[in-house]
Amino acid sequence: MSIAGKTAVITGSTSGLGLGIARTLAKAGAHVVLNSFTDSEDDHALAAGIAEEFGVSARYIQADMSKPEQCRALIEKAGACDILVNNAGIQYVAPIEEFPMEKWDAIIAINMNSAFHTSAIAVPMMRKAGWGRVINIASAHGLTASPFKSAYVAAKHGVVGMTKVVALETAREDITANAICPGYVLTPLVEAQIPDTAKKYGMSEEEVKQKVILERQPSKEFATVEQVGGTALFLCSDAAAQITGTTISVDGGWTAL
Ligand code: NAD
Repeated sequence: MSIAGKTAVITGSTSGLGLGIARTLAKAGAHVVLNSFTDSEDDHALAAGIAEEFGVSARYIQADMSKPEQCRALIEKAGACDILVNNAGIQYVAPIEEFPMEKWDAIIAINMNSAFHTSAIAVPMMRKAGWGRVINIASAHGLTASPFKSAYVAAKHGVVGMTKVVALETAREDITANAICPGYVLTPLVEAQIPDTAKKYGMSEEEVKQKVILERQPSKEFATVEQVGGTALFLCSDAAAQITGTTISVDGGWTAL
């Protein structure tokens, strides 16, 4: 079955992976709902651009994924949600004893709790439609850990666990729930970490990419937005209909170590 005419809601999709996944699904004919917490002309123009480029309907709906009611309202306002991509996420890095409480709360809310709230509204809609795909963008940090990322690692492990539960609750229906676990992808989220790290280690930004960031990634290459988008599209295909409750790593071998 093709995804042409299906509606995909992608949280946190004004940049990076979310935008890349939205573009990939739109290219395959899905109508897309973009989202972030802002409400600027640029946000709406991004959706209009996708609609024009791929000949699908594309809307931008503002909703702050740190707020439970807004997560739920996003799916309600979308009106349909055949494909739910829980992608919104932020990062903060600090040793546990210095980790600010409000950063912990924000990361858990945006990176984990939002997926619970959106799924709670979307799954009944998928049941009614007789088909659905829940795709949670977790991380290699949903399967393994790094120092200084307590909240992020906790949230991503939580998302992987919740993915399995949603899969079991929908196992007898034409609905699947899976988590994609990317390694490093060069998006604004990762780029933001480079200048500080360069300063900290007295390295050039290129050295930081190769020696610090890609240190854990055996391929020594960043995964790309298109590769993660392609994986999401595969999870929507008939070939993936029996793939549910699991993780797919797109990490250049990171979790094989
Ligand atoms: P990004 O910063 O480029 O994009 C994050 C998106 O989330 C943006 O559109 C931003 O506006 C949105 N967002 C942030 N806070 C929000 C909020 N409160 N409500 C709604 N939207 C919000 O980051 P990215 O690298 O594309 O990350 C996307 C997802 O992929 C995240 O969940 C991240 O953890 C995950 N991931 C990224 C990498 C990587 O290397 N880039 C690796 C593994 C997993």
